[in-house]
Amino acid sequence: MASSLMLLQSLFVSNTTLAQQKKEVFNYSDLLRSIETGEVSKITIDPATNIANVYLEGATDNKPKEVKLFNQNPELIAKIRSKNIDFAVESSAASSAAMINLMQIGVLFLLILGLFILIKRSASSAAGAMNFGKSRARFQMEAATGIEFKDVAGIEEAKEELGEVVTFLKTPDKFTAVGAKIPRGVLLIGPPGTGKTLLAKAIAGEAQVPFFSISGSEFVEMFVGVGASRVRDLFRKAKENAPCLIFIDEIDAVGRQRGAGIGGGNDEREQTLNQLLTEMDGFEGNTGIIIIAATNRPDVLDSALLRPGRFDRQVMVDYPDMNGRLGILEVHGANKKIDGEVSLETIAQRTPGFSGADLANLLNEAAILTVRRRKDAITMAEIDAAIDRVIAGMEGTPLVDGKAKRLIAYHEVGHAIVGTFTKGHDPVEKVTLIPRGQARGLTWFTPDEEQGLISRSQLFARVTGLLGGRAAEDVVFGDGEITTGAGNDIERVTSLSRQMVTKFGMSDLGLMALEDDNQPIFLGNDSVNRSDYSQEIAEKIDKQIRSIVFQCYENAKQIILEHRSVIDQLVDLLIEKETIDGDLFRKIVENSTTKTLEISQVSLIK
Ligand code: ADP
Ligand code: MG
Ligand code: ZN
Repeated sequence: MASSLMLLQSLFVSNTTLAQQKKEVFNYSDLLRSIETGEVSKITIDPATNIANVYLEGATDNKPKEVKLFNQNPELIAKIRSKNIDFAVESSAASSAAMINLMQIGVLFLLILGLFILIKRSASSAAGAMNFGKSRARFQMEAATGIEFKDVAGIEEAKEELGEVVTFLKTPDKFTAVGAKIPRGVLLIGPPGTGKTLLAKAIAGEAQVPFFSISGSEFVEMFVGVGASRVRDLFRKAKENAPCLIFIDEIDAVGRQRGAGIGGGNDEREQTLNQLLTEMDGFEGNTGIIIIAATNRPDVLDSALLRPGRFDRQVMVDYPDMNGRLGILEVHGANKKIDGEVSLETIAQRTPGFSGADLANLLNEAAILTVRRRKDAITMAEIDAAIDRVIAGMEGTPLVDGKAKRLIAYHEVGHAIVGTFTKGHDPVEKVTLIPRGQARGLTWFTPDEEQGLISRSQLFARVTGLLGGRAAEDVVFGDGEITTGAGNDIERVTSLSRQMVTKFGMSDLGLMALEDDNQPIFLGNDSVNRSDYSQEIAEKIDKQIRSIVFQCYENAKQIILEHRSVIDQLVDLLIEKETIDGDLFRKIVENSTTKTLEISQVSLIK
């Protein structure tokens, strides 16, 4: 913008000087002199161009002389006044026409400039497309990852399995000396956030070799052939830097079963996969390169990838157990200021199902909260808040008192009471009316122990506890007043009881696996409900599910009826305090049940 304006100006100046040159030269001092001597009859000044047209007395032609003025001419004006010369200020039509002309030139110039920029830009992007896969290396290389095995906790078996890989990368000669074949590829299988990437980095770190990494999704590009050329590039670079480690994240993105999927195969992906297989086969003996790939969908991988000589070693990286979680918490707690009263064991107990990434995130959230609360060290209060947040989402604003709040209080206390009085149910951790995530109130239960195997009675207890909320609404407010608040509970109840029937053989239908986890590739889990059974069996399944749910619901309602007085008491307390923790909850329940016991004993004695 600025440059084009300058150009306009300079065009302008050169134009006026040209005009001046055509006429006789008559400059400012000439003008002043002629005014003094009284030769001037009339002057007009054009403010747009700052040019004075000077008409001289006794000039042969009646043409004015043009004089370029400076910006301010008080002296000139004063002189003109004192000599009583005819004086006018007027914008000459000719000069404004010239102006318009110049503007047009300027606009044209801008247009050309814009066009030029456009052409240049598209040319450069076309050049980028021509260079694909070559200049823009999409893999990362870390000369030293700086991560050691001690930074990875809770997946001890996987670490043990991979210790050998480290030894190989460090001292390949030992293996070659005895003629041992080295694994080329290791496949890490496990859910997201369990530390697969971290583990791969730790191997490179322990062995002190470079770490090449690329994600499967980065192989697959718009143009056919890009992925394959990236694979070639990656392996070429790796060979130059051997011994080293290549890490391919999300290998399922390229490694899916070839020819599978709807609408035919994907040429680009298949070419990339073929290239990858070729490169892996092309290793001459022990080149000192180990490939580690990670996936959470081993079931969709092409079987060619899993053949001997390729990813023939598979290592499971699963969610950490209680001790594993403790280890991970220790790793991530080491660089944080944690108050002495905080027990990492308690945190580990409270967080079954958390992945390593969840735990790292949990401690980080707690640390952020600590800063926000202006404390020096993380205390249990921040940890608790962070756990709740990681599990159930952000805390909302408390509900205003009213009928809805009372109903939600009954619903939550219903869950808690039914859970407490059902054998095999986890103990109450706390009941709260503070909304969080989607939920308007929440009842937390402490998972008792590692829940690898769950018994039938535990599943029944879980279903019953889940129905406790609706049961309380029903018993207390009547079935006309029940609400949508139980929607999520009912969803979980349905899925649990369906699994009991169709997967775990826990119903009268007997030991039959009626549902298959393996959905066809590319079809979402719920888009089709595959049924390998007849209509008749389907009806039987429905009947069994309904009978489980019915039975549990009746149990739940019975428990609510029996404990109605303590429920009312708890609801009042909950509305007042918003949150009741597990210990207080149990104390109130115990007191009231011993009281009822005393009363019944008294009546017995009488
Ligand atoms: P994945 O690759 O399995 O999805 P990552 O390795 O990317 O998981 O893990 C993400 C982060 O979570 C890591 O950077 C680390 O901070 C933390 N983490 C995950 N698992 C562990 C573990 N077993 N030990 C310590 N930290 C872990
Ligand atoms: Mg990862
Ligand atoms: Zn509920």
